[in-house]
Amino acid sequence: MSELAFFGHIIDGVEVESESGARFDVWNPWTREVWAQAAEGTAADAERAIASSRKAFDEGPWPRMGRVERAAAIHRLADLMEERADEIARLDTTNMGKPFAQAKHDVARSVWNFRFFADHQRDHVGEVFPMDSGHHSYSEFGPAGVVAAISPWNFPLMMASWKIAPAIAWGNTCIIKPSEDTPASVTYLGRLAIEAGFPPGVLNVINGYGAPAGSTLTGDDRVDRVTFTGSSQTGKMVMASAATHLAPVSLELGGKGANIVFADADLDNAVYWAVEAIFRNAGQICLAGSRLFVQSSIYDEFMTRFVAAAEKLVIGDPFDPATQFSSLASKRHFDKVASYVESAQALGGRVLTGGVAEDGSWVVRPTIIDGLALDAAPYCEEIFGPVCVVNRFEDEAQAVHLANDTRYGLNAMLFTENLSRAHRVASKLRAGTVWVNCFFIRDLRTPFGGVGDSGVGREGGNFSREFFTEPKAVVMQIDRKG
Ligand code: NDP
Repeated sequence: MSELAFFGHIIDGVEVESESGARFDVWNPWTREVWAQAAEGTAADAERAIASSRKAFDEGPWPRMGRVERAAAIHRLADLMEERADEIARLDTTNMGKPFAQAKHDVARSVWNFRFFADHQRDHVGEVFPMDSGHHSYSEFGPAGVVAAISPWNFPLMMASWKIAPAIAWGNTCIIKPSEDTPASVTYLGRLAIEAGFPPGVLNVINGYGAPAGSTLTGDDRVDRVTFTGSSQTGKMVMASAATHLAPVSLELGGKGANIVFADADLDNAVYWAVEAIFRNAGQICLAGSRLFVQSSIYDEFMTRFVAAAEKLVIGDPFDPATQFSSLASKRHFDKVASYVESAQALGGRVLTGGVAEDGSWVVRPTIIDGLALDAAPYCEEIFGPVCVVNRFEDEAQAVHLANDTRYGLNAMLFTENLSRAHRVASKLRAGTVWVNCFFIRDLRTPFGGVGDSGVGREGGNFSREFFTEPKAVVMQIDRKG
C-alpha cells in the first residue's frame, strides 16, 4: 500500500487527511489496478472546507484585492499548470484512461480557461447607462460569495477548471468536489494553487462520494452558488438541495447530441467530425454526437466510410502515442455501456461495427448501431460511451423533427455546403450549441449550456459573470433638485 500515490483534501491552504482517516481506492481503468488512494470526505470535512472558504471570502484579501492583482495571481497558477502539463496529463490518463495526447489537449484548454477568465474579469468591469432624467446609472459586478463546484470524471481537470476559473476570477472563493472516480488532477491543481500563493480557502478541494461530501456542500446555507456538471438525475437532486437555501444553480447535464449529415455535405469533413464527435474520449462526452442522422440518398456511401473510419481507430494503452481510443473510465461505467450494447442487440438493433471487447478489459470498441426503434432505450437515453445510433431522413423537415425529438438539448451538429440551409436548420434546432461543419470548437465568450434535461443556465464570458457575481445597479443624480 505504501507505494500508492495519495490525494488528500486541500483545506485552508494545507493538504490533509479526512478527520476520520478514511480513504478510498483510485483505479487505473486500463490496467484495472488500484494506483492511488484519496481521502474520503465526510460531512465534517466538507463543513471544514466551507468554513475556510467562508472566512476567506468574508475576511480575506481575495475578494478585496484589485482586479489586476487577482488576474496576475490566476495567471501565475496557469503558468504552473503549463510548466507541469505533462505531469497533470499523466494523472488524468492514469486515472480515467484517456489517450495521453487528448489529456495534454485538456490541460492546454484548462490553462486557457484560467487565463481567459482572469482577463475577462479585469476587462468587463461594468456598464454605464446614461439616462434622460438628469441621472445616470451604472452596473457593478461584485463577487457572489462561496461557490460549491461539483465536477465529473470525463474531463477531470477541464470540467473543474471551467467552474473554478470564473468563480475565483470574479472574486469568489471556491470549494470543488471532483468525482470520486477521478480525484487526482483536481487535487494536484489545489496543490499548485498553494504554490502560486493563493490565500488559504480561496480554492479548497474535497474528495469523496457524491453523498455525503457533495451533498453537504450543496445543502449548506453558507454556500452562495452551486455549479454542477453530471447526470440529469443527480442535477435534479443538486438543484433541490441548493433550493433549501435559495442558492442559484448552474447545471450542465446530460445530452444525446444530434449529428445531421445532408446529401450536399463535404463527406470527408463530415466523416472526420462524426468520428471525433462520438469516439473522442471513448464517447464519454456530454456533447457527443451520439445520434447520427444521414440523408437517405447518401446513407449507404456515408455509412461505409464512417464504419471504415471507426475501424481504423487504434485501440490500446492510453500512454502509447499511437493510441487513439482506450478503455472506459471505470468498471461501473463499462458495465453500464456494455449493457446498453446488449440491450440494443436484443431490441433488434444491427451492430454495424464494434461491440464489447471480450478480453476482460473495460473497452467497448467504437460501436455503430442502426435499425433501432425511436423509443428504444439505447436510442433515447444517454449512453455516454462510444456508441452511435444511426437513422436516415428524407428531407430537412424530417431531419429537424428527428433531431429535436429528445428530452435533451445540449448541442447538435449539421453538415451541409448550402449556406442558407445551414442557417435555417441551425436556427430550428433545440439545443444550446449548434456546430455547423465542425464539433467541439469553443469560444469562451459565447453562451454554453443546455435546453430541457440538459441543464439550467448558461456559462461563458458575460454569462459566467452574471452567475458568479451579484450584479448591482447604482443610480446617480447629475442635475441638482431644489
Ligand atoms: P453523477 O451525476 O452521479 O456524478 C457527477 C458528480 O456529482 C460527481 O462528482 C458525483 O460524485 C457528484 N454527486 C453524486 N451525487 C451527488 C449528490 N447527491 N450531491 C452532490 N453531488 C453528487 O454522474 P456519474 O458519475 O454517476 O455518471 C452517471 C451518468 O451521468 C453517466 O453515465 C453519464 O450519462 C452522465 N454524466 C454526464 C456528464 C456530463 O458531462 N454532462 C459527466 C458525467 C456523467 P461521485 O462521483 O462521488 O458520485
